[in-house]
Amino acid sequence: MHKIASVIKVLFRTTAKKYPMFFVLKILRMIVTTVMPFIALFVSPLIVDEIVGERNLQRLIVLTVILVGGEALCQILNDMLTNFINRYSTRLDNLFSLEIGKHVMELDFQLTEDKEALEQIEKARTGMEWYSGGVHGISDQFFNFIGNLLKAVGYITVIVLNAPLILLAIVVYAAVNAMFVGKLNKISIEAFGKLSKVNRLFGYFGWNIVDPRYGKDIRLYGAQSMMVNAWKENTRKSNDHWKWQGDSGLKYEVSGALLGLARSIFAYTYSAILAIRKLISIGTFTQLISAEVGLNGAIGGMINSVTELVKRCNYAYEYVIFMDYPEALSKGTRSVEKKPHEIEFKHVSFSYPKTDRKVLDDVNIKITPGEHLSIVGLNGAGKTTFIKLLCRLYDPTEGEILMDGVNIKEYDYGQYMEQFAPVFQDFKLFAFSIAENIAFEKKNADIKGITDRVGLHDFVEKLEKGTDTNIFKFFDEEGVEPSGGEQQKIAIARALYKDSPVVILDEPTAALDPIAEYDIYKQFNSLVGGKSAFYISHRLSSCQFCDHIAVFSEGHIAEYGTHGELSNIPDGIYAEMFEAQAQYYRD
Ligand code: ADP
Repeated sequence: MHKIASVIKVLFRTTAKKYPMFFVLKILRMIVTTVMPFIALFVSPLIVDEIVGERNLQRLIVLTVILVGGEALCQILNDMLTNFINRYSTRLDNLFSLEIGKHVMELDFQLTEDKEALEQIEKARTGMEWYSGGVHGISDQFFNFIGNLLKAVGYITVIVLNAPLILLAIVVYAAVNAMFVGKLNKISIEAFGKLSKVNRLFGYFGWNIVDPRYGKDIRLYGAQSMMVNAWKENTRKSNDHWKWQGDSGLKYEVSGALLGLARSIFAYTYSAILAIRKLISIGTFTQLISAEVGLNGAIGGMINSVTELVKRCNYAYEYVIFMDYPEALSKGTRSVEKKPHEIEFKHVSFSYPKTDRKVLDDVNIKITPGEHLSIVGLNGAGKTTFIKLLCRLYDPTEGEILMDGVNIKEYDYGQYMEQFAPVFQDFKLFAFSIAENIAFEKKNADIKGITDRVGLHDFVEKLEKGTDTNIFKFFDEEGVEPSGGEQQKIAIARALYKDSPVVILDEPTAALDPIAEYDIYKQFNSLVGGKSAFYISHRLSSCQFCDHIAVFSEGHIAEYGTHGELSNIPDGIYAEMFEAQAQYYRD
């Protein structure tokens, strides 16, 4: 119940904010479809009484016109409204896809590396698709239920006013039948549980039989008969389950049907007796019979809608869970200016969520404003993790990171993020124009200087539309596919354009050879000027022109100093690395 309420609340609120007309149309259609059967219910008895009574032709014609015309009008209105409502279908799917997408982009970064959170995104997405029919499917069932409830109230009123005893029969029937329906549901849930295992195996064998990749092994090891026998065995099991479900439910289905029959016989007989005794007119007799039949349908409709609503809301609830995903990071309010900063790591240790291993272990380092620091170490030493903590993609498990003497958690998150312009190893360009990839939404941004400075002059010159050329061909046939090196330069231009006081290069050049990497780092360093800079590499490309070098090893800063200091430590990690890589850098 709680799930249904929260799904309806969240889905309807989101939809109503953007498309209020959708609900107006749905409510109108519900009114029209609810009113429609009542035209016949009230007008038909009058026609019957007119025929068996005074037979006034004029009155008969008027009543017939009201009946036929009213029903036709309702039908036309229903068709028109359905047509309008259906136009919202794609729009609503897109609305919720966008809501999920927006939430994924706002989510704390660390959740995007969390398996559970990733699964929840997937469940939210599929849960809002055909499983639930989205807000379209759920609101259909919701309004069906309300419409049927209103109809039931109407029919019951007619019955109570004319033959209250029939209502008693209906209540007894409904109570006993609800018990039968409950039993049937229980059986079907149990069968579903048993069948899902068989279905999984079916899926496995079914795929392997038709999957040509298994062809070699199946032929050479004579696996055909094993596969076919397994398939047959599963078919038998599956059939057994279906048979069990059918057999177990049969008695309840038959009892329900017999009970319904008894109720109808009672209602008809009782109404007939009232009519014969002239306690009600023939018209009212037909009205009672119609109301009884109608009530039956309305109750069936209500049970159906509720069952469907529960099922659909269960799927769509995954969306509600995802949209409610808690924030992983605490966020402060302290404002922070865009200027060079002093940064200090104090006894910082870190384990990734849901792991025990300390990837960083008691890291201590102080970086003065405008300092250029080279961070080196073998793969897996913790270099990128160090940067992720600095950029608040994760928070330290122990210790604290200070910026200008204040714990970085206290700063306004958005303003804090403005301080950093990193180029990560796995940087991503978007299928927008080159200019948009560098300056994002800042229209008419002057990026010419930047593209020239990072060495994209010739690349841009060759393009007819210059920096307005789209990258990749997803949206634009004439889009350009930049080479790996050109993509890197665009990513570097983006970082420089952001004009943040701290720039970071985290091995965006790992695919390049050491010399090319050295050139890029050196050129970048000359563009950075007085900003603070962090250069990360498992090579020593950037060490010679940096103020300090921090050598990471197994989560510690094992060595710290200038190039001169570190190369002179006997058996030092840096000295050894430098010796091994020296052939590249000697010149
Ligand atoms: P480096 O940048 O020095 O190559 P990283 O900081 O990327 O090293 O990784 C340090 C260690 O943390 C590695 O052992 C890596 O496997 C582990 N690690 C990195 N990212 C994650 C993650 N999201 N979840 C769990 N472990 C991770």
